[in-house]
Amino acid sequence: MAQTTNIEWTDATWNPTRGCRRVSPGCLNCYAEKIAARFSGEYLAFEGFAKRTAAGPRWTGRIDLIRSKLDEPLRRRRWAENFALEHGRNPRMFANSMSDLFALESDEEIDRVFAHMALSPWFTHQVLTKRADRMPKYFANMAYRTEMIGIECESISGLSRYLDDGSPRWPLPLPNVWLGVSIENQETADERLPYLINTPAAVRMVSAEPLLGPVDLRRWSDEGLECQHCAWGGIEEQCQRTDDEDDWEYLCPRCEEPCAHTPIDEYWGEKGGIGWLIVGGESGDGARPMHPDWARSLRDQCQAAGAPFFFKQWGEWLPVDHVDLYNPLHWRLKQESALSVTGSTYPIKGWRSSTPESERVRLLRRVGKKAAGRLLDGVEHSEFPEAQPCAYVESAHRNPELIAVRKHFAADPDKETA
Ligand code: SF4
Repeated sequence: MAQTTNIEWTDATWNPTRGCRRVSPGCLNCYAEKIAARFSGEYLAFEGFAKRTAAGPRWTGRIDLIRSKLDEPLRRRRWAENFALEHGRNPRMFANSMSDLFALESDEEIDRVFAHMALSPWFTHQVLTKRADRMPKYFANMAYRTEMIGIECESISGLSRYLDDGSPRWPLPLPNVWLGVSIENQETADERLPYLINTPAAVRMVSAEPLLGPVDLRRWSDEGLECQHCAWGGIEEQCQRTDDEDDWEYLCPRCEEPCAHTPIDEYWGEKGGIGWLIVGGESGDGARPMHPDWARSLRDQCQAAGAPFFFKQWGEWLPVDHVDLYNPLHWRLKQESALSVTGSTYPIKGWRSSTPESERVRLLRRVGKKAAGRLLDGVEHSEFPEAQPCAYVESAHRNPELIAVRKHFAADPDKETA
């Protein structure tokens, strides 16, 4: 486990699974695939999981649970407690920064990962997936899942999975686990968000990185509608009106059945829906630019819904209207791109005269991730959901369950690494 990380919205990473497969355009420049291919030689960690090909680094499709990595959150308890004493909150830990937990095919293997999260309340675990459909299926029967994860916890810790009153010791949803989906455009948002909002979680998070197109999340708010025929989610302006002047009706844009939308409940912010949004542009070789209005729109939607917003980075490309003339790093002109709000790119020469203002074409300059920074319209957005109660500071001295788990893992000095 990395004790520190360059990922701005977390404090540590933990990778109990290895390997992945590409699933959508957001995976095109997957940094995990690049790193894995670099360490895929004989006897190296990613041997068999990734390879170098003429077309670039590629996953092989093998995805495994790495048993030796599973108990890292338990072994890092002391580090987490020191962090908590210093910062007054539990450290956040991003599970599977190099893979996707729900890419594992076996529910039992996912149970094992959740059991280790349940047994390490000194961390706030953050799980992101692009296999959003797998999450509500995995949690479909909460009582059964609680039992399965409880059995794993029991065999790891030796503690009974039931409290004296017969209730589960580790009930779902786990209070120290945030679950989320990664999206990159409207299509992936429409596909994955319904699964997320049907998944019980302490916090539901959405990571829009790399953001590759405009995303309207209002369809997931109380302004949104859901088609009763195909479950398409949208807003009223998107429904198609038939041509017949005298007898027109609205049709669902996806299934084209006569409109039978029902309003969606409120899915944002405090109301138990999307509890946190992260936005970021792409970095690394081949990075694609992010139109500033895509990020602005999501910021504004979050603010309107009262949900915390985290602007992680511009990525490689900085909009020209954000260039700081006093910052020499912004002068390093490597490349420029003219990008419309719909995602089309235009030749640099002549785009001003050849594109209508409605396209909102903006010039972006490739200056590199570090130079581009993470200010949006001059403001740093680093909001988080309300901090979890700090497991160590708040309750370690009072909670007998936590004390029992701590004692269990303190018994073997080899399990403790400061
Ligand atoms: S799901 Fe994540 S880890 Fe897997 S290929 Fe896509 S970007 Fe990479």
